[in-house]
Amino acid sequence: MKKVLVIGSGISGITCAIECAYKGIKVVLVSPYPSERAQSVLAAGGINAVLPGPDGDSIESHIEDTLKGGCFVAGKDAVRGLCEDAPDIIRWLETLGTVFSTEEDGTIKRRAFGGQSYKRTCYCGSSTGKQIVTALVMEARRLEGAGHIERIYGLWFHSALIRDGKCHGAIFHNGNSGCFEILTADSVVMATGGQNALFGKTTGSTLCDGYSAGRLFLQGVDLKNLEFIQYHPTTIETAQKRMLISEAVRGEGGRLYYEEGGRRIYFMEDRFGPGGNLKSRDVCTRCIEETGRDTVYLDISFLSKEEIMKRIPEVYELCMKYRGIDISRQSIPVSPSVHFFMGGIAVNNKHETNIRNLFAVGECASIYHGANRLGGNSLLSAIHGARVVAASLKNGTEDTGAEDFSAELKSAKDELASKRNTASQFPVMYIRDLLAESMKQNLGIVRNADRLKAGIDDVDYYMSIADKIRYDESEPAYLAYSLDAILTLARATLVCALYRQESRGSHLRSDHPDTSDEYDTSAIISYDGGRYTTCLDREGRYEH
Ligand SMILES: Cc1cc2nc3c(=O)[nH]c(=O)nc-3n(C[C@H](O)[C@H](O)[C@H](O)COP(=O)(O)OP(=O)(O)OC[C@H]3O[C@@H](n4cnc5c(N)ncnc54)[C@H](O)[C@@H]3O)c2cc1C
Repeated sequence: MKKVLVIGSGISGITCAIECAYKGIKVVLVSPYPSERAQSVLAAGGINAVLPGPDGDSIESHIEDTLKGGCFVAGKDAVRGLCEDAPDIIRWLETLGTVFSTEEDGTIKRRAFGGQSYKRTCYCGSSTGKQIVTALVMEARRLEGAGHIERIYGLWFHSALIRDGKCHGAIFHNGNSGCFEILTADSVVMATGGQNALFGKTTGSTLCDGYSAGRLFLQGVDLKNLEFIQYHPTTIETAQKRMLISEAVRGEGGRLYYEEGGRRIYFMEDRFGPGGNLKSRDVCTRCIEETGRDTVYLDISFLSKEEIMKRIPEVYELCMKYRGIDISRQSIPVSPSVHFFMGGIAVNNKHETNIRNLFAVGECASIYHGANRLGGNSLLSAIHGARVVAASLKNGTEDTGAEDFSAELKSAKDELASKRNTASQFPVMYIRDLLAESMKQNLGIVRNADRLKAGIDDVDYYMSIADKIRYDESEPAYLAYSLDAILTLARATLVCALYRQESRGSHLRSDHPDTSDEYDTSAIISYDGGRYTTCLDREGRYEH
């Protein structure tokens, strides 16, 4: 029986495990923590699908909105597959026990989300991610009981086992035993999420640090569209992180404004008319940036408390708990923050990377979202991508045969030992904090060549002192071995942003403010012996 190793157990990883099990493939699902601790549980607003109804919505319209939202960078066929699969995904999630919010007649409620022509975002109150993960975990447990899936926690990805352009498994560090371990498989699926921790405090989880993408890049895996980083326009500051104020608030009629001379200026409505607050995330973020204010306000207080508690209870509770703000009476102070990564591991329409038997799904993969993702499309793409992989694996996994990887295991151990023995000068978290500060300064909402070059210089400096960094024995080994790859990913992202000499979607260059036909497609970055090489995917090598 074919064996697949899925790394990461958020919505994309766990769905991939389930779908592979349905197809008779033996799955090992690995992550440091259980699915309930993945970033996926934070998803609040909903998941997009065109469901039957009288409103005139259509799959063609979903496709058009997705392509337009992504500024026509995403592949048309890939997006068509995504949108066509959406209704079936919702039906499947319902059969697993996901409790969607429903109308009185039992039909699934849909809310308006930015950049979409119709209300098509299905939701479970304001805890959609949590509800979906719960249903998926139940299904995975059932399949585990039947012997199709094995779930292993406590393992941190170290590197892929790649020989002759083919992936045979991966090396992990076991956080409990302190040892490195090898897991071999006929195919490996990366599902390790986004790259939030490169930027310090964001709306996402610090578990999403981009290490896996950075490490695979060093191992010869192509990355794509790293410059497209979505800033969510409405987040609030709390002690630990930037908390997301879901787009659902604007979907329920929330209005963005700032104050001037004692007057409220509804800048989105002034510019785009009554629907202005529901412009896509990149447009809202750009408009907030143009107000020249660090903070603007979002008002939903025209709804009664009863209505708010019915439609967006978690937003009410979040604002009250973390900031003492009663949103039924007060406006919410909001500002943009890093939220989602359209770029990541380059995959084709079958989710294959440029290494045979190595796949990527979910937020760590770059496909479907082009230059800007529409809210509600990423849970959808995490699940759809996982289904696509399972379908490809059913038809095409090859037996990789037994090989000896003791040399690779020894090299991982030696690498860690050499890091432990360095002269101690700088604690590793100090460098991670400096990196986050530099990324925020130099790769913010608006970039320019000088800033981006300054960012690259910073990263080069951090790389040059990496051998002087202190790794305490008391700290997780992961911290010790992950820094090089994280710095490499940060550098690759800055190089990509410098390469794209135009403004498009979430990528705004003050020195190249216009959108240029020259760059109307994805950009690929490769690593070869210390060289970062960028090129446009003119031939549709990846998604099309
Ligand atoms: C606050 C917030 C709200 C959101 N709301 C919505 C929404 O309403 N609708 C929508 O469509 N999208 C939303 N998104 C985006 C969406 O939630 C994510 O894109 C999606 O859940 C990503 O799923 P994933 O499976 O790819 O990754 P994740 O859920 O991040 O899972 C990644 C997995 O990889 C594991 N992992 C990480 N590093 C390693 C490593 N080194 N070794 C081994 N395993 C590792 C993690 O432990 C985890 O299990 C939201 C995001 C945030 C942050």
